[in-house]
Amino acid sequence: MEKETSVFRINQEGYAAGLPVCAAVLAAEPVLLKNAAGETLRRLCFDAPETDPASGDRVTLLDLGILDEGVYTLENSRESRAITVRPGAWNKVTHALVKGLYYQRCGCVLDEAHAGPYRHAACHTAPAAVWEDRCTRRTVTGGWHDAGDYGKYVGPGAVTVAHLLYTWKLFPRGCSDPLNIPETGNGLPDILNEARWELDWLLRMQRSDGAFHNKLTKARFAPFIMPEDDLEPEYLMPVCHCATADACACLALAFRIYRSFDEGFAGTMLQAALRAWDWLENHPDYVPFRNPEGVRTGLYSGWNDTDNRFWAACELFAATREERFREAAEKLYLSGFSLIQFGWADVGGIGALCCLFDLKEKAGGILYGRLREDFLRQSGSVLCLSGESGYGTALAPDGYTWGSILSVMSHAMAMILNSLLTGREDMRRAALLQWHYALGLNALDLCFVTGFGERSVMHPHHRPSGADGIDAPVPGLISGGPNKSHCYPQTKEKLGSETPPAKYYLDETPSADTNEIAIYWNSPAVFTGAFFSSLSGGA
Ligand SMILES: [Zn+2]
Repeated sequence: MEKETSVFRINQEGYAAGLPVCAAVLAAEPVLLKNAAGETLRRLCFDAPETDPASGDRVTLLDLGILDEGVYTLENSRESRAITVRPGAWNKVTHALVKGLYYQRCGCVLDEAHAGPYRHAACHTAPAAVWEDRCTRRTVTGGWHDAGDYGKYVGPGAVTVAHLLYTWKLFPRGCSDPLNIPETGNGLPDILNEARWELDWLLRMQRSDGAFHNKLTKARFAPFIMPEDDLEPEYLMPVCHCATADACACLALAFRIYRSFDEGFAGTMLQAALRAWDWLENHPDYVPFRNPEGVRTGLYSGWNDTDNRFWAACELFAATREERFREAAEKLYLSGFSLIQFGWADVGGIGALCCLFDLKEKAGGILYGRLREDFLRQSGSVLCLSGESGYGTALAPDGYTWGSILSVMSHAMAMILNSLLTGREDMRRAALLQWHYALGLNALDLCFVTGFGERSVMHPHHRPSGADGIDAPVPGLISGGPNKSHCYPQTKEKLGSETPPAKYYLDETPSADTNEIAIYWNSPAVFTGAFFSSLSGGA
């Protein structure tokens, strides 16, 4: 990030033809929009900008409307910055975000043909001991490394897969390009090939009684070494309610998606989901997951499992049409939870997605009619957040916490779904601003996706990127972004108390609190990118 920040903030990957172009400027004087020949097309005047509460910037959003394909410049007396408008502008970055998951694959060689310079030997191939019974060892290889560490976690993995599967289901035109992964050309779309890598692993994480182990990790995080050099023993950590419900939901959803491609695989997943549901029914009292004594890896524990069970019940009803699942989903829904969260901590939004876009009227009056009203109201509040931000970012100043990109992308998902249900242009426009945020239209003038944009994340908290001896980080990974709420003391020391929340960010490898990557941050960005790509010519 050697380049200075610009007074113009733009989507650094350009703009997709046919969609409105929006940029921001941090100066009060008029801006000229010029074409490639240097002719002034428009002179943009605006009132003195207000201060954006999250960044402290005096910033104005410039809505340039729909521009013809071409290269333009934004110019004032201080600076000019080029913007491009072209069809399919975001296809490449959207597919790279899916391919980013390939680079997270565990238990296999990443070879040069598919990983280029980021190739490495097979990692974490030894059988893992069950934590409570060290004499029992099982082969549980596969899956994706969760984030900057080498752990593998069931709930976050299930959520990531669900994002990919719904992306493919709703916007196949935006995510159907080949990814150059080992399975490419086998007849299955590559986004489904990549998701299957995790699904195969999820199936291995189920205990014989139907419950799912929360995670497969070491006792402590590995140092910054390559994955194949990380030889400390891995353990199957205890089972838990949230992981079991999330895996149940994801596998039931995957049954529907893969049924037409591989009936046997789909059937195996449905059976696993049904056994998980039976375990949940037999264990109704929620017990939060706690790390066993001596274990220091990620928790991913929820406050309760109501939303997780709701999502599972919705997907099982969609998969089987058995009335008992609809009744269960309805009962769980009435206990109340957010319908616009799509991350590992709150999965109610994914259950809502299933009801609103798959089940529809079949879900019944409560799970369709009433849920729709609730969903539209909750997603409406996200639009207000976007309106209050100088950059149009749907995040309140106190929303810049660990992995703030997840909230931004979840809110994009909520507004996309709202726009699909209602046809509201304002929702779609605001959702697009969240995508622009991820790619550079933000207070940091930074593209959060590695390998993309003019000023992009260079030092993510990601072990292979830190240990592989290559300057450029592994491409296609999205950074968690600014975090002023739950940050490290060393981050506070560097940024102090005066730095505003939207700028509380360090592009430094040790800063897991602001610059880690995670599979479940990539996946909602895939959903968002694929939606907008599908509107602009698609793949
Ligand atoms: Zn591994």
